[in-house]
Amino acid sequence: MSTPQTIAVIGAGTMGSGIAQLAATPAGARTLLHDPLPEALARGRARIEKDLRRLAERGKVPPEEVEAALGRLHVVDSLGGLADADLIIEAAPERLELKRELFSTLEGIVSERCVLASNTSSLLVTAVAAGLAHPERVVGMHFFNPAPVMRLLEVVAGVESGEEALALARATGQAMGKTCIDATDGPGFLVNRCNRPFNLEAMKLLTEGVADIRTIDRIMRLAGGFRMGAFELMDLVGIDVGFEVGLSFHEQSFGEPRWRPSPVSVRQIASGRLGRKTGRGFYDYSDGAHRPDDPEPPAAGGGEGLVVISGGGVLADELRELAAEAGWEVVSAAETLGELAFLILDCGEDDEYDEESAVAEGGPRAILCDAGSLAALDPAGPAVGFHALPPLAEGRLIELTRQPTSSELAVERSERFFSSLGRHLAWVGDAPGLVLGRLVSQLVNEAAFALTEGVGSAADIDTGMVLGLNHPRGPLTWADAAGLDHVLTILDALREELGEERYRAAPLLRRLYLQGRLGAAYGQGFHDYE
Ligand code: NAD
Repeated sequence: MSTPQTIAVIGAGTMGSGIAQLAATPAGARTLLHDPLPEALARGRARIEKDLRRLAERGKVPPEEVEAALGRLHVVDSLGGLADADLIIEAAPERLELKRELFSTLEGIVSERCVLASNTSSLLVTAVAAGLAHPERVVGMHFFNPAPVMRLLEVVAGVESGEEALALARATGQAMGKTCIDATDGPGFLVNRCNRPFNLEAMKLLTEGVADIRTIDRIMRLAGGFRMGAFELMDLVGIDVGFEVGLSFHEQSFGEPRWRPSPVSVRQIASGRLGRKTGRGFYDYSDGAHRPDDPEPPAAGGGEGLVVISGGGVLADELRELAAEAGWEVVSAAETLGELAFLILDCGEDDEYDEESAVAEGGPRAILCDAGSLAALDPAGPAVGFHALPPLAEGRLIELTRQPTSSELAVERSERFFSSLGRHLAWVGDAPGLVLGRLVSQLVNEAAFALTEGVGSAADIDTGMVLGLNHPRGPLTWADAAGLDHVLTILDALREELGEERYRAAPLLRRLYLQGRLGAAYGQGFHDYE
C-alpha cells in the first residue's frame, strides 16, 4: 500500500499539531494544517517548528530534514483548501455533532478516494461515519499524547470502514514511525478499554480499606513495575477528565459492573481537587514533587536455616530459587525430617505437599493469599498472609497481611525471610490477591473479555498496553508468566468472598485453564511458547 502524498490535519491543538508534524516528517507527505481559529493555527504551526528545531538540536532529526519538513507544511485557513488531500485526519474537539458535520462538509470538497480519519478517543467511529454518503472511507486513527513521542497508533475499524481505508491508515501510521495495532470500534477501543481496571480496581481497593493511596501506588510501582501508581496517574490526567471517560464507558455498556465508576472520584471532583492542574488531587503538589524517589530494595542474602516451601505453581518455584540464592535451605514439607523450620511457606497444594507433616513440624507459617484472603485460608489462625506475582525477578516488593490472631513470630519471621530475598515489604489489609495480584488479575480479565469479543488480537492487546501506556508487559503475557491458574484462582476467590459480578472470570480464561494452557512454563497460555 502506498502512503498518501497529501495529508491534511484538522484541528491544530495538542493532538492535531503533533499529528501534522508526523505527516511532514518522518512520513514526508505534503501536509495541510487547518484550524478555524487563526490564532490556534498559528500556535499549532509554531509548536511544530519549535519541536522540530529542538529535535534537531538533540541530533534526533538532521537540520536539513527540519527545513524540508517545514517546507512541506502548509497552513490552510479554509476547508476548501483541503480539496486535494488523500487522507484527512481530524483532531477537532471531542463532540460527535461537530465531527459529523465536519466530515459531511468534507465529502462535498474532497475526491472520492480521500480517506477520512478521526482521532476521537471516546466516540464510536461508526457514529462519526453514520449518515455519510461513503461511510466506508471513515476509519479511526487513535494517536496517543504526545503524538510525536508515543510509539503506538490504534487503527480503529467502524462497522462500515472499508479494507482499503484501513490499509491506508496503517501504511500512514508506519510511515510516521508508529507501531500500528488493529482495534474494533467500541468503548475505549482496545488500549483504553483494557486499561479500565488500572484506576477502577485501585479505587476499589481504597474504598475497601485494603491499603491507602500511597501504599497502593508504591505497590504498583515497586511490585508491579508500573512507572506510576493509579492515583499518581489520575492526578496527572485530571480526575475530572478520567471520570468523564469512565461515565461514557458505563453508559455505553448499559452498566457493565466491571466499568462502574467509583464514588472516590465523585468526592474528589466535588472538592475541586482535580489533580496536578489544580495543585492538589489525591496528592498535594504545592511544594513541587509529591513524593521522594523510590529507594533501592535491601540487599539479598543472610538466609540461615530451614525453610519449607510447598506448592506447585510458578510462584512457588520462583520463591524456592530466590530463597536458595539468599542462603536458606529449602525443603518440601515431607523433607523436614523432624527439624523445626524457620518458616513454612504455604503456596497451595502439590504432589509432595503433606499437610500432616507440615502441621506436625509446627513452626510459623506464611500463606499465599491467592485462593482466598488470609481470614478465609486460616480462620482465626496464627499464620501471616503474603502475595507476590511472577515474574518475581522483576518485582521489587512483596505484600504481607495479618489478622488479629496472627502470631508475632510469624510476623517477625515473614519480614525477615522476605527481606532476605532482596525485596521491599508492604503490610496491607486482607483480600484475595492482596493489592497487585487483584489489580493485575482484573487487567488480565478485561483483556480476556476484549480478546473474546474480537476487540483485538492477543499480540495487539499486549503491544498496545506496552507502547500506548508504558505498562511493564502486556496483560496476557503477564498472565502467561504468572500462570493462568494463579490469575483464575484470585478471580474466583474475589467472586466468592466479595460476591460481586465484576470479578466474574472471562470464560476464555477458564477455558484455557481447563485445556491445560496454563502459561509460558507449560508452553502455551494466551500465547504459544517454543
Ligand atoms: P485541543 O483542544 O488541544 O485541540 C482542538 C483544536 O480544534 C483547537 O485548536 C480548536 O481551535 C480546534 N477546533 C475548534 N473547533 C473546530 C472545528 N469546528 N473544526 C476544526 N477544528 C476546530 O484538543 P486535543 O486534545 O488535541 O483533542 C483533539 C481530539 O483528539 C479529540 O477528539 C480528542 O478526544 C482526541 N484525543 C486527545 C488526546 C489527548 O490526550 N489530548 C489523545 C488522543 C485523542
